[in-house]
Amino acid sequence: KPKVLHADEHGIDPAMVSNNAIRVTQTLQEHGFKAFIVGGAVRDLLLGIKPKDFDVATNATPEQVKRLFRRAFIIGRRFQIVHVMFGQDLIEVTTFRGAAKTDAPTDEHGRVLRDNTFGEQHEDAARRDFTVNAMYYDPASQTVLDYHGGIADVRKKVLRIIGVPELRYREDPVRMLRVVRFAAKLQFSIDQETRKPITVMAPLINNVPSARVFDEMLKLLTSGHAMACLQQLRKEGLHHGLMPLLDVVLEQPLGERFVTLALANTDERVRQGKTVSPGFLFASLFWHQVLEKWEAYKAAGELTIPALHLAADDVLNTQTDTLAVQRKIGSDMRDIWAMQPRFEKRVGKAPFKLIENSRLRAGFDFLLLRCASGEIDAEIGEWWTAFIEADEEERVRLISVKP
Ligand code: ATP
Ligand code: MG
Repeated sequence: KPKVLHADEHGIDPAMVSNNAIRVTQTLQEHGFKAFIVGGAVRDLLLGIKPKDFDVATNATPEQVKRLFRRAFIIGRRFQIVHVMFGQDLIEVTTFRGAAKTDAPTDEHGRVLRDNTFGEQHEDAARRDFTVNAMYYDPASQTVLDYHGGIADVRKKVLRIIGVPELRYREDPVRMLRVVRFAAKLQFSIDQETRKPITVMAPLINNVPSARVFDEMLKLLTSGHAMACLQQLRKEGLHHGLMPLLDVVLEQPLGERFVTLALANTDERVRQGKTVSPGFLFASLFWHQVLEKWEAYKAAGELTIPALHLAADDVLNTQTDTLAVQRKIGSDMRDIWAMQPRFEKRVGKAPFKLIENSRLRAGFDFLLLRCASGEIDAEIGEWWTAFIEADEEERVRLISVKP
């Protein structure tokens, strides 16, 4: 019963399809299984956007998938999926999931905790979040299977949840964050029915494990449209009191200029295809919190550097509890913060030592953001820019003439 669209109707450019994704669907099909590219990749292809990653859906079980590929790993997060690796490239393969069981375990708010039953393709389609995310593309026949009117919604640029919105948000409140992210990133509107319950249901996000909220927030902030996403979250009433992170980001008057610059900077990097380090990103988002606590510790009599570390501890501890900032990200954040006072020492050997630090780049970029936001004098950023670019002789001279 899905609508079947052929190449001349959907217009997907086969050159935009990942060769590795094709290898996966082809191998599965050669072994008698159904296999399709699915989800966000199909949506992006229909929009003429090159997908950043490819997911494959199949009726083969994870075990059956694993056996067909040399480097394949079964990953057991919420649902079992198989990671098929080709060098650095990763294709996620999921087995069609069955219709939501009415007796699936939920928490007291109705959030589905575990539901890992396999099913038919049409059931898999019905369990996906939005109509535009529930299409399947077979690279071999170049056909698109559309179960929920996704093609029409792509053309209308509308995000529409599949099924009864209240139920779907209750099953998984993260869908409220996802719709906001997609709306901002794709510049789609949100269908009235899909949008209406969000304001009321927003607090349900509090019950989602913080690691999942963190994953979704990281996607949002590195989507290349972070500012637009945050504005949209605010508009939907999804920011208030929900996530400590968002309160910090959206409601700090002091840091607003700094955060705005940091996010604009991140968005620009993403759009240029550069990587963004989560450590740098979160170091920026929490900097003004650190500054405030740093001042307080100094006022209480701590020395500059220990005071900074105490402030960093405080901020990292609260965010680790509530947002599950991963350990590696946390230590990157601390490194960036800890480097900041060292830029103020522009005498003797100190600057020469600092430029040998392997994390100099991140610390220096952070310093430039502080200058751009008006927090510190632009002169210090200019001096370091010159110092880093200079040769040995010039560096000695710069130290002698520093203001
Ligand atoms: P992106 O471009 O950000 O990767 P995406 O649509 O591919 O967007 P993923 O998080 O990679 O998003 O998920 C892949 C697909 O899995 C989605 O397109 C959707 O069909 C399904 N999916 C993901 N998360 C959910 C969810 N919480 N509820 C229902 N379906 C989901
Ligand atoms: Mg994806």
